This record gives sequence, structure tokens and C-alpha cells, in this order.
Amino acid sequence: MATMNGINGNGMASGSNGISGLYATSQPKITMRSLTSDRANFVLENVDMSFANSLRRAMIADIPTCAIDMVEIQNNTTPLPDEFLAHRLGMIPLISANASQVLVDHRECICEEGCDRCSVELTLHAKCEERGIMPVTSKMLIRSNSLGQPYENEPDMDMGSMGPTPTAQRSLDFGKPIGFDNPRQDGIMLVKMRKGQELKIRCIARKGFAKEHAKWSPVSTVGYEYDPHNILRHTAYWYELDAKAEWPLSENAREEEPPPENAPFDYNRKANRFYFDVETVGSMSPVEVVETALGILELKTAQVVQELGILIDGPSEEDEMQNGDAGEGGWNQNAGNGGGVYDGYGMNGGGARGGPAYDY
Ligand SMILES: [Zn+2]
Repeated sequence: MATMNGINGNGMASGSNGISGLYATSQPKITMRSLTSDRANFVLENVDMSFANSLRRAMIADIPTCAIDMVEIQNNTTPLPDEFLAHRLGMIPLISANASQVLVDHRECICEEGCDRCSVELTLHAKCEERGIMPVTSKMLIRSNSLGQPYENEPDMDMGSMGPTPTAQRSLDFGKPIGFDNPRQDGIMLVKMRKGQELKIRCIARKGFAKEHAKWSPVSTVGYEYDPHNILRHTAYWYELDAKAEWPLSENAREEEPPPENAPFDYNRKANRFYFDVETVGSMSPVEVVETALGILELKTAQVVQELGILIDGPSEEDEMQNGDAGEGGWNQNAGNGGGVYDGYGMNGGGARGGPAYDY
């Protein structure tokens, strides 16, 4: 848990400056090496491997985005069967900035077939009327402006029973296929049609995350490396004659001192520099991917801490806890005394004894 300390409110937005300069050297540090519209290459230091790997996994599978989840085929005389097309449509990245806040989960929504709180509608109608081959691409998908709100015209409706509502406003292009306005991009090929063939579909895009289906992943890949010189010997190189000649060092090896020849193996050594290369599919900026993943890790950790507190002390004893000793190994939820504060974004420091303290 100690490694969580310092990923705090000043954090990731200013990633290119690193965050370590402000704190002691044992604090986590991020150094952004390069940042483009779809790629972030950074070094994460002073954390242990479990944290670095959690960040990698959160970026791949835990971030909510928006993707086509339901397809109504009104007419399909193309060579591809309906299921094939539906799968291809689902894999098209849609602009998903801030998806966690601008959409609610459709399973929690009160609507039956999609509404503006939980869904985005896209339609496509293409007909080939000339000789030759007509490509149908993601650029032909047209996002509707509205699906309507359920019960919005019923003044008697009790607002309390309306279910969750989005907590932020959508951006203008939310839900449109990526590259829709880029003349240098052809769009993603869906199917090729011949004369006389037609495709008419209506799609509903919803919020989800990649643990459920990979189409919701905001990243195509997350490159992850540590210990490029293999000092920890986590890798055993297979080789024919000479391992050094057959396994060239990665570029990240320049960032670390090579070990002296025949140096003794240090059993206690641990990895604390991790090289990330995050490549998005275009639905979100790489900065948003990293920031959201850190926020999710923080939230999950806080939930575990909260559950542990309830398990150990019981919810009804909270008042007692605040007055006195939290008990050995217990979680002191009184932030004022414990030293550490959980403020929804930051976890600063920790209590000296009995673990860090968090304030909810
Ligand atoms: Zn809905």
C-alpha cells in the first residue's frame, strides 16, 4: 500500500513535468517521454511491480468507453452475413471522451430500448447503383443527435424513480466514428458491395469496458517493460550460440546502467522503473486513458480499504473508532488523526502505525 502514496491531486495532468520534483525521492514519479494524439510513452518510477502491472491492466480493461452494442439490420443484401457485420460494427472505435460521466450504464437506465442517458444511435444506409465495387466504411455511419429521454413529457413522473443520470455534458462529436472528419483517412472498411446490393442498419452504442468485451478497450496495446538488462533474471533467454548477440537490448536499456560483468546476483533487488508505451485506438486521448486508469485504481483501493474497515470493526462502531484506538491492524477512518487523507483524488502519506488512514 505504501506505493500508492503520492499519486495525488497534482498528478497526471502535468505528467510531462514529472511529479517527483516536488516530493521526496521515494514518491512515485512519471516522466513523459513522448506524447502524441494517440500515443503516450512514459517511465513510471518508485512503485513496485504490482502497482505498475495494475495500471497496465486498468488501462486495457477497466476504462469505460462507448461502442456499438446492438445492431438492427433492416436490409442486408451484401456478401457478409448479419452477424459478421454486427461484429465489425462493434469493433469500430467511437469518440468516447469522458464516457464514464456522460453515459450511464444501460442496465441501470429506466429506458427499454435506449435513450439519451445511456445510448447513442448511429444509422447507415448505403446502396450500390453503379457498376464496380463500392466500399462501405465507418465514415458512412451517421450519429443521430438524440434518441429522446424516457418520460420527459410526463410532468407527474417522480424524479426519484428515474434512475441514474449522466453527470457531465457530452462533447459535440461524442459517439461518432473516429476519423469521421479527417479527409486523409479512408474510414474503416465494413463491406464491399456490388451493383444492386444494399445495406440499411440502425445501431445502438452503449457504455461498457473491455473486461466485458475487447471492443470497449480504449487501447490497442500497452507496451510494458522493466529491467531491460535482465539483472533480476526474470527472463531466461533461449539462444543458439551467444545470448548477447541474439537478443539485442531494447531502447529502454539506455536509461539504465548495465550491470558489471560477472556481478553477483542480488536476490533482494526489485524492479522500480517501468517503461510504458500506451497506444490508443483513437476513442480517447492517451492522457485521458492514463488519468482515468489511475483514478480507477484509486477508487478500487479505497473500496477495499472501506470494506476491510467494515469487516474488522463493523459499521456501527465507527463513532467509537474515531474517539480512540483503531486497534492493531485496524483501519483508522478518522483522517484528521491518522495523517493521511483520501480526498477522492489523492492518497497522501499514511499513518505511522496501523496503516494509512482514509477519509471518505
Ligand atoms: Zn436509457
